[in-house]
Amino acid sequence: MRRQIVAGNWKMNCDLSETEALINDLKAQTIPETTSVMIAPTYTNLQSAVKMLADQPITVAAQNMHQASNGAYTGEISAGMLKSIGVDHVILGHSERRAYFKETDALLAEKVSTALENKMTVIFCFGEELVDRTHGREFDVVKDQLKKGLFHLSESDWGSIILAYEPVWAIGTGETATPDQAQEMHAFIRKTLSEKYSDAMAQSVSILYGGSVKPGNAAEIFGKEDVDGGLIGGASLDAESFMGIVNAFA
Ligand code: PEP
Repeated sequence: MRRQIVAGNWKMNCDLSETEALINDLKAQTIPETTSVMIAPTYTNLQSAVKMLADQPITVAAQNMHQASNGAYTGEISAGMLKSIGVDHVILGHSERRAYFKETDALLAEKVSTALENKMTVIFCFGEELVDRTHGREFDVVKDQLKKGLFHLSESDWGSIILAYEPVWAIGTGETATPDQAQEMHAFIRKTLSEKYSDAMAQSVSILYGGSVKPGNAAEIFGKEDVDGGLIGGASLDAESFMGIVNAFA
């Protein structure tokens, strides 16, 4: 059975004291055993988060990492550095990294390989832009991103991959894909995986939806057959709204 997952991407929000306060708010909540919960604070607060959550069923993930294992890459963070502080999950390919930091599919393929070589689990983000959807090419774009970013992996590598389909037009905009639009794309993603690998493999991969998920719309989206949870931005910055989403699974 696939894992139900809700992951909070805190982006460049929360300094150390705000991070600790938000984690304490989350620690006061009961996490349902059936759902894996993750949070991705910014780099400088990862170590504190790991320590604070050591005895809690909440996983700490990084928001990015470099593709090289070490070297002259000023300002960058490696997989080994993350592992050394107890972080073994990483978000790669977020649309903000693709748009503002010009991360290409080829670069992301390298980052994914480096993460897996370091025995990390990757939350791989991808999704079409509004212009793609208005031109009716959203399925082609999504397939291409999967192909270029992940199809170099072997079937067994996929045990360490969580997919996050995030239509760019729905991120931070208040605009959400309808539950039917999300289901349609998730089913397409699963079919694409099945054609490249196997049906068993396609059925085993968790596919999260991301894009303006809130406590009020999460249940309907998560209720769809091929949606296994969500990657949450804005609504993950408040413990009550994040937990409203975590508790939205039927
Ligand atoms: C995101 O940044 O991954 C995201 C889904 O953001 P939001 O929930 O704010 O749309």
